[in-house]
Amino acid sequence: MAVALLLFVMGSLSFVPVGSIVLARSDRVADLSAGDSSVADVQIGVLGLFHPREFTLRASAGTALILHAGEERIVLEKSSGVDSATIQISDHDVVVTSAARVVRASKLTVSGRKSDPVDFVLAVPEKIRRRYHGTLEIRPLAGSLTAIVTMDRETAVASVVAAESMPETPLEALKAQAVAARSYLVASRGRHREFDFCDTTHCQFLRNPPPPNSGAATATAATRGLVLAYNLLPIAAMYTRSCSGNTRTPAEVGLSSAAYSYFSVECEHCRAHPVRWSRRIATHDAVALHSSDESARLDIDRRLGWNAVPSNSFVVRTDRDQVFLEGTGEGHGIGLCQSGAQAMAEAGADFRQILSHYYPNTTVVTWPERDSGQLSSGPFARLP
Ligand SMILES: [Zn+2]
Ligand SMILES: [Zn+2]
Repeated sequence: MAVALLLFVMGSLSFVPVGSIVLARSDRVADLSAGDSSVADVQIGVLGLFHPREFTLRASAGTALILHAGEERIVLEKSSGVDSATIQISDHDVVVTSAARVVRASKLTVSGRKSDPVDFVLAVPEKIRRRYHGTLEIRPLAGSLTAIVTMDRETAVASVVAAESMPETPLEALKAQAVAARSYLVASRGRHREFDFCDTTHCQFLRNPPPPNSGAATATAATRGLVLAYNLLPIAAMYTRSCSGNTRTPAEVGLSSAAYSYFSVECEHCRAHPVRWSRRIATHDAVALHSSDESARLDIDRRLGWNAVPSNSFVVRTDRDQVFLEGTGEGHGIGLCQSGAQAMAEAGADFRQILSHYYPNTTVVTWPERDSGQLSSGPFARLP
């Protein structure tokens, strides 16, 4: 989960306090399905981890994809016999090949027949293949292709919940995760120059949108529009796979925080059942590594691979030219502990109790669904 603690300061809130819960409009449960134009869109940069120079794009069964490249228009539709295209980088252009057609343009845009969101499958050949629901733009950037999917926020929330949770996670824990994920999407837009969020742990994991009857989709629909707020502003809610028996604050692990500074809270489940890990790392790789230093841990993970050092809670023993780390927990340890939330839900807690345990002094509020356009030029840093 992301480490940046960028709390966005909003300009246009219209909350009506109702007891401890602040509501902008009544909670409503709704279908996550496509085409709900009342929900704000988010722009997600996808599959960038692979630095792709080629994509394949395919229409899902029963849908038509309308591709625009320069002045050219290409339709991909299974019933027409042409349902896929290849997109390659060529200098500063994209080259789109579909059946016998080859089109060169500065960028490619993809949508449904009414310029609306549509189901499609995007793949980096021989590496990864994902389904999306939204509109798509592909353009060259710094020697590889950048693919940006614009999707409604609720689809993004459901996709994050699906990517972040285990299949057996109880519904109330999924709902807590959905509120945390949505808060993050609302509070920290514009984390990248070209789009709002990437699809890796730098921002939030995001994979295929889940099927409508899945736990992730149900939890998202049941918490539609709900975010965590502190002092009436949404927080970029951080969460962690498991903690070390107590969650951490950003300050404890050397990170700065904005308006919400978090609290270290006891996590009964992880105290009783800590996830223990051990690693050996070459001494020269571990020079800057210290327990409780999240930035140094992430530096090592970037260099040596994800999970090279699973958490920032460990003891170090030097063993000749190696250091031996023994630690507990997975992730930065800040905010909601996913293992602890799952245990709380299994013991009967609802999502509000889970959230108030891991994010003390926050409230659950309904966020106005149409905030698009007000967030993209806010006073937060844009990351490369
Ligand atoms: Zn990112
Ligand atoms: Zn925990």
